[in-house]
Amino acid sequence: MIIDLHSHTNFSDGALSPPQLVQRAVSNGVSHLAITDHDCTGGLEVALLATESAQLQIIPGVEISCLWQQREVHVIGLFIDTAEPHLQALLQGQQLLRMERAQEFADRLQAIGISGLMDYIQSLPCQAVSRNHIADFLIKEGRATDKQQAFKKFLGNNGRVRTAAHWCSIATAVAGIRAANGIAVLAHADRYRLTRMKLILLIEEFKDAGGEGIEVSYSNLSHEQLLSMAKLCEEMELWASVGSDFHTPDAGWMDLGRIRQLPQNCRERAIWLHPRWAGSESDPVARYIT
Ligand code: AMP
Ligand code: MN
Ligand code: MN
Ligand code: MN
Repeated sequence: MIIDLHSHTNFSDGALSPPQLVQRAVSNGVSHLAITDHDCTGGLEVALLATESAQLQIIPGVEISCLWQQREVHVIGLFIDTAEPHLQALLQGQQLLRMERAQEFADRLQAIGISGLMDYIQSLPCQAVSRNHIADFLIKEGRATDKQQAFKKFLGNNGRVRTAAHWCSIATAVAGIRAANGIAVLAHADRYRLTRMKLILLIEEFKDAGGEGIEVSYSNLSHEQLLSMAKLCEEMELWASVGSDFHTPDAGWMDLGRIRQLPQNCRERAIWLHPRWAGSESDPVARYIT
């Protein structure tokens, strides 16, 4: 059984279409795949309709961008009911913020002589436009050699055309996920560059809002980082999640299903022991097409 609870399609900033993602998960031997696009569920819905594989259970998910103390943090919802109107209203708001931000980037790029961003974005299949797409545009235009450079020169915190994002709060994201009967999981906590004290404060607020889990094993965490996340998970009494955060086959170290096992101290906190998970095993696909 290979469980991967964090992945992206080209409805957000992933490289693969939903059917391609599913196909890759199956060939990598994944048995349970959560599709967790940034702020949208269109890719997940296509994947559910296109998948008949008995080998793979697709778990409905989403990754919501939030602001906490002026920093961006990501909250994942697992086992969400995608038709739930409160959650969809929240996601549509986030998608609109993304489109407005893209327009702001387009205006700022235009002012420094780089035009055509909005036409490029209109040509994409995505539902949630990301800075990754804008980085692709800058590479295509010959303004950056790779994504890192696009962020460094243009889009990142010190970039020439940086813009602030006005994402929802953690409380709003968690409330949306819970309204849709999902489990809220704090994503990749080591990437927020918080001191231990601040990270604990963040998790306390997340839990107060109704958050239940934290990603313990994901992508390219070192063994030491994994143990540290596992300890945090145990101390903060959260469910432990695992996920590759797969975006593209080009990043082989973040491939689907390529995740270290949970350390011993988290095994009894594994998110597949959560009552919500157990309750979903019987007829997963039929259950989530609504
Ligand atoms: P967004 O959610 O649209 O603000 O885009 C954030 C995404 O951009 C992240 O999920 C990363 O995949 C990517 N990203 C952010 N910072 C960098 C960076 N410095 N270099 C490359 N990719 C980045
Ligand atoms: Mn992403
Ligand atoms: Mn993320
Ligand atoms: Mn992600």
